[in-house]
Amino acid sequence: EDVRMRLNVEVTVALDSPPAPAPIESFEDMLLHPSIMKDIAYHGYSRPTSIQAQAMTVALSGRDLLGCAETGSGKTAAFTIPMIQHCLAQSPIRRGDGPLALVLAPTRELAQQIEKEVKCFSRSLESFRTAIVVGGTNIADQRSELRAGVDVIVATPGRFIDHLQQGNSSLSRISFIVLDEADRMLDMGFEPQIREVLRNLPKRHQTLLFSATMPVEIETLSQEYLTTPVQIKVGKVSS
Ligand code: ADP
Ligand code: MG
Repeated sequence: EDVRMRLNVEVTVALDSPPAPAPIESFEDMLLHPSIMKDIAYHGYSRPTSIQAQAMTVALSGRDLLGCAETGSGKTAAFTIPMIQHCLAQSPIRRGDGPLALVLAPTRELAQQIEKEVKCFSRSLESFRTAIVVGGTNIADQRSELRAGVDVIVATPGRFIDHLQQGNSSLSRISFIVLDEADRMLDMGFEPQIREVLRNLPKRHQTLLFSATMPVEIETLSQEYLTTPVQIKVGKVSS
């Protein structure tokens, strides 16, 4: 409790669900893959930010997460690092069987930033593949990249659904999904696409939802699709 107060982190779980894992204030203590540790150091991150200290331990424990923190607090690494660790824990990857993890983001620019960060933290991992799937770029190039087999997809919802419908990718092995800036995705009208994805995921999967604000639409989505989530708030958050 003391640590959370110092980190300015507020954590909530439902009455009947297990308690949230405690925050961990150093990357070394998170038991990350050595190659990820190396890339974190290379990237120049020496200590986790508040949201990272709490969200990463929750995500690494396998729990669903509803994260709410202001811009610039370091949410990207908070989900990117556990996502890569999750992928490494899966059985040896068979290329072409479909991606293991998916990040949905509202805009092309944001997706590009996220993809960059995924590549940063998987830099030392031989044959780890990340694809970016956004509008405004050549769909045929994306098709061949997806069909060659990737581990992680970072996408905007509309373009990703296009590829699913064309049979260029599949949800059948996705066991880790992140919705980044979910409130913005809803504002932009992506709710049907998001629901389409969430509804068709394999039964066993972990969901992380990040949102700057907590409007009722986000609460509804969380109640429908998250399983005993840990809700994390850092700093002031408006509804
Ligand atoms: P958010 O998604 O919460 O708005 P970002 O993930 O974009 O925040 O991170 C904001 C900035 O902080 C980025 O420049 C990022 O590289 C930097 N950053 C994130 N985590 C750390 C860390 N642990 N140590 C140093 N810098 C960090
Ligand atoms: Mg962000």
